[in-house]
Amino acid sequence: MNTPKKIQKIVNQRITDKHGFICCTGCGIRLNLSYSHLVKKISLVDCLNYQKPENITLHCFGDSWKCHEKWESNLYSKMSTLHDFQENMKRIKELDIYYFFRLISRFKDQGVGIGILTELENL
Ligand SMILES: [Zn+2]
Repeated sequence: MNTPKKIQKIVNQRITDKHGFICCTGCGIRLNLSYSHLVKKISLVDCLNYQKPENITLHCFGDSWKCHEKWESNLYSKMSTLHDFQENMKRIKELDIYYFFRLISRFKDQGVGIGILTELENL
């Protein structure tokens, strides 16, 4: 099993850009970064998935308009503005299909159109 330091190293390697910088995967900023879990622990069928590097990304945080807070909002209108929205949804689908469809259902309740929902389901 990976230690938290090893997991952070794997995540950092994955998101380091071609210039060697570690940036927010939601907007590209390099300040006030925090590790975000894509699937929340409580929803995971297999709790071991929670600490998998695939479940973790790096988002800027600190205000309601920052990527970490946008992702935590569960609101399509905010989440979908992140550069990594589609990639995150794809990862969630692979990690926890039940959580994925709960999110899709929430988006539907928020008035997101069937065309967009179908596109997300087919990621
Ligand atoms: Zn950001």
